[in-house]
Amino acid sequence: MKRQANDLNAWLTYCHQYLFDNPLCIRCKDFDLDEPAAHVHHIIPLTINELTYWETSNHVALCNQCKTVLDKKLKGGHVNHEFGKG
Ligand SMILES: [Zn+2]
Repeated sequence: MKRQANDLNAWLTYCHQYLFDNPLCIRCKDFDLDEPAAHVHHIIPLTINELTYWETSNHVALCNQCKTVLDKKLKGGHVNHEFGKG
């Protein structure tokens, strides 16, 4: 099933609000660092279960660096957070 552009807009709006409510990277927080978050990350990857896409319990705020690290861990170096892929 192909996602529509308005889903992407809704997601970006959601991310904006989420990062407003959760301004710091939760992974850096574990290291006592106050790093501003730049991304909303899915804990359970979408390729495994797309139903978790809008589950707030599946979202964490991450900075650029941590997002890159986690993406590499999850996908063996292949970074792809676009809609409708896979
Ligand atoms: Zn971080």
